[in-house]
Amino acid sequence: MKTYDVAVIGGGAAGTIAAIRAGQFDKKVALVERNESIGKKILITGKGRCNVTNIAPVDTFIEKFGKQGQFFRTAFFKFFNLDIIDFFASKGLELKTERQGRVFPVTDKAESILAVLKQYLAENKVDMIYGARITEIKPRLGSFVLSMEGSDNITAKKIVLATGGASYKATGSTGDGYNIARSLGHAIIPLKPGLVPLTAKELWIKHLQGVALENIRITFEYGDKKKIVSEIGELMFTHFGVSGPLVLDLSGEIVSLLEEDKEIRLFIDLKPGLKFEQLESKFLHKFKVKGNVQLKNLMKDILPQRLIPAFLNVLDLKWEIKTNQVTQEQRRAIIQTLKAFPLTINGSLPLEEAMVTGGGVSTKEINPRTMESKIVPGLYFAGEIIDGAASSGGYNLQQAFSTGYLAGESAANA
Ligand SMILES: Cc1cc2nc3c(=O)[nH]c(=O)nc-3n(C[C@H](O)[C@H](O)[C@H](O)COP(=O)(O)OP(=O)(O)OC[C@H]3O[C@@H](n4cnc5c(N)ncnc54)[C@H](O)[C@@H]3O)c2cc1C
Repeated sequence: MKTYDVAVIGGGAAGTIAAIRAGQFDKKVALVERNESIGKKILITGKGRCNVTNIAPVDTFIEKFGKQGQFFRTAFFKFFNLDIIDFFASKGLELKTERQGRVFPVTDKAESILAVLKQYLAENKVDMIYGARITEIKPRLGSFVLSMEGSDNITAKKIVLATGGASYKATGSTGDGYNIARSLGHAIIPLKPGLVPLTAKELWIKHLQGVALENIRITFEYGDKKKIVSEIGELMFTHFGVSGPLVLDLSGEIVSLLEEDKEIRLFIDLKPGLKFEQLESKFLHKFKVKGNVQLKNLMKDILPQRLIPAFLNVLDLKWEIKTNQVTQEQRRAIIQTLKAFPLTINGSLPLEEAMVTGGGVSTKEINPRTMESKIVPGLYFAGEIIDGAASSGGYNLQQAFSTGYLAGESAANA
């Protein structure tokens, strides 16, 4: 049986950097990946462009990870966004910053990120074991025996478990790591979808599939009129509900709330830049100038055409009503609906279709300074397998790189 100083399980962002870092300390390192290549998920990130990190300060990152944020502080300090930029630049790949601080490779191709990672792996003599699925890890005499399908078993003094979450399973992240961690005595915080489209109760929503709204704001209302209000941004209607950056970013919170409340009200402010009174005077002017025009035609200046039928239906207004037939009450209701177009959210797509997995190995059982298990000495965790997920913007990949780097270094130096 081959023996290694460090065996890293999972060739995603976290595992790859952990193996590279351990290799930099001249350790005998193996990277075990069930696929025939590493980084299948990296290739689909950022719509194939890989939003590798964000230039936000560390406190913003911590905030983005909510309750788990503080746990990642040491890892972020160890290897943060500027380190990532240097890491790729030193192999000739420049990164660029786009809106909201999102960082991408200048090539706009996730393949470029992967190519650099492969270069580092080779340079640091990491032994790549492909097509090998770890099924069991057993501590034995101060080492670990790794049983796998598709390759011979190996032993390792230290292990970094970086098998990712349980979504987009075709990339290899099937959730195996959770079972392995559980079998070693770790508690797994229940898994739930994060960054996931939400479903709406209203059946007519299917007619809006593909309609995109820009410069809007959304408010989720739950319980006794408690509210979650978004920034201004984009939303996309789907055949089952809503998606797009604003929805995805708040979806983690909403999924948790849906566990208590079966339905959550969503209001879309279609004109967040204008107050009710400003809209009212605009409408009064328009109605005066275009009194004989059908309301549905007048609304074309105000809303995407495909949204107008749904908008009039919500208001229970007749399609052919002319503007000079609209009562004051109806006019106010139109403006009210522009400021708060209502939908009922009753669920989300399943975990498989979420961009990240919420829940995972409890951070209470991992030492934040080293990423070592507090339960099994010599076992380290890195990446999405750890409980905690952030909104989109490069935060999740940074978490994978930071925890991977720290886990790899700690495992090599222990
Ligand atoms: C569509 C999509 C777009 C995204 N875009 C972005 C983005 O632009 N920016 C961002 O920050 N985040 C993005 N994310 C999230 C980001 O991809 C993850 O947070 C990140 O990839 C997690 O890295 P990881 O190394 O922990 O896990 P993974 O990348 O999931 O890697 C885990 C690896 O472990 C392997 N593995 C699993 N089980 C075993 C086993 N038993 N034996 C051997 N190998 C195993 C898997 O095959 C896989 O290669 C996106 C996610 C999705 C799905």
